[in-house]
Amino acid sequence: MEEISIPLDLDEKRMQHAPTRLDSMVRKLRDLGFRITPQRLAILKFLAESKGHPGAEEIYAAVGDSFPTTTIATVYKTLAVLKSIGEVLELEFSGDYNRYDGKKPYSHPHLICIKCNKIVDPELASLADMTEKLALESGYELITHRLDFYGICPQCRKKE
Ligand code: ZN
Ligand code: MN
Repeated sequence: MEEISIPLDLDEKRMQHAPTRLDSMVRKLRDLGFRITPQRLAILKFLAESKGHPGAEEIYAAVGDSFPTTTIATVYKTLAVLKSIGEVLELEFSGDYNRYDGKKPYSHPHLICIKCNKIVDPELASLADMTEKLALESGYELITHRLDFYGICPQCRKKE
């Protein structure tokens, strides 16, 4: 098992109270024996705080500013590890870059703009009712879902 250095602001005491997304990622990686390098921590922090569903290139560009030694391979490797432990949600697109949600690493609906490729998390209050109804009517035990709505976002509609 590799030795792991944890920054001061992520000490055990803080983690006992309402762990943040970053805490959760760091703790799980540490438990599995992964080294938390400054580069990797910067990637985790960007993912934990980003609402925009970044792709690997965007993460690389953001983290590379502060840590020029970061490689795109480090970004891909970190994403693969996070995905394997359920700490990031990967949104797969055929013929386009995969995008990532580190804030909500579980299935949830997305709104995707076909013009600017922006992806947001809509509030969809009826989802729970819909899921329950579907389970009842189909007899399926529902485990997960993929629910992507495609359209043109308000900013792009203004430009039309
Ligand atoms: Zn748009
Ligand atoms: Mn999302």
